[in-house]
Amino acid sequence: MDMMSGQSSPVLTDSSPMKESRVGMHSSLTSYSQSGTSFSTGKYIQIPKKKAGKLEDAMANGWLDAMKSSSPPSKKLFKDLNGGVLSSDDEFSYASWMCKHPSALSSFAEITNLAKGKKIAIFLDYDGTLSPIVDDPDRAVMSDNMRSAVRDVAKYFPTAIISGRSRDKVCDLVGLEELHYAGSHGLDIMGPVHKVSEAHYNSINSTDQQVFRTLVENVKDIEGTRVENHKFCASVHYRNVDQKDWPTIAQRMHDILTNYPRLRLTHGRKVLEVRPVIDWDKGKAVEFLLESLGLSDSEYVLPIYIGDDKTDEDAFKVLRRGNRGYGILVSPVPKETKAFFSLRDPSEVQQFLEALVKWREQSESGKRMTD
Ligand SMILES: [Mg+2]
Repeated sequence: MDMMSGQSSPVLTDSSPMKESRVGMHSSLTSYSQSGTSFSTGKYIQIPKKKAGKLEDAMANGWLDAMKSSSPPSKKLFKDLNGGVLSSDDEFSYASWMCKHPSALSSFAEITNLAKGKKIAIFLDYDGTLSPIVDDPDRAVMSDNMRSAVRDVAKYFPTAIISGRSRDKVCDLVGLEELHYAGSHGLDIMGPVHKVSEAHYNSINSTDQQVFRTLVENVKDIEGTRVENHKFCASVHYRNVDQKDWPTIAQRMHDILTNYPRLRLTHGRKVLEVRPVIDWDKGKAVEFLLESLGLSDSEYVLPIYIGDDKTDEDAFKVLRRGNRGYGILVSPVPKETKAFFSLRDPSEVQQFLEALVKWREQSESGKRMTD
């Protein structure tokens, strides 16, 4: 993407067809779009809570959905599910849901049977899949045992992490060099096969640097603001800003964004995120990675994607299409999903990964015995 800054209203232009590109905007924007942003409904964004009108109700509901989907289930429910004191209604609905989305652990033989003669490719979300969901995202750390399981899996199967976090952050959190990483919901992909994409990184980066600098310049006099550069997106944090300054931030963001029609704003927790408007999601990231890794022939490849929230559904959909592979939803409660299978929590994800490694080791040693 290049910035056509000579125009009175700068626009982002793509330097390659987006369908072939490894960069794009995650379609969570579609879900965020209710939440977000459109500065067109008023002169400024009123970030502080106020009496909500109809449209704002809808927006607020969208935010609530997004928050719910990224939050752990209530302690009570979690305790019920794990402590064997389920109410009969909960038990019934979970059991019915499990009929539709059986445990990937109890269906392990079925999965490996279908993988016979095929190469398995593993795609993993991070938060809520490899790490527990916690209130402070900086503390969503994966356990050493989980790290070992992922490391072992990557020894035998091409493995990629696809996260909503910035690629650098998820890379740091996972700490394994042998994996492929896709950050920003797949907008930002890194891996040994992605040398071809460097030019795109650079051109996108130059655009984002310009936007990033504009943001920094415009809020630097407001105490407590922090602008973070995620390479393809930027965040303006206002958690530590006096509430009286929030409207000023909102006004300035509005003014900046009117100059960048192909950027949009989405809301997080005390953070405003500026992102390019590009049709991209985790499903497209999976397709791109499969293609890049030479794994797009579904006759010989079985992709498995494990994730826990709404943004993972795009990947589940891609795999469900033509029974191409398996989506596994991580959830301790019934949820509408396009995933074939389910796992209850990250500890079951770990068990599943360990089982895959064991299965692969056994089949290799079996092969050696017969050779
Ligand atoms: Mg997640």
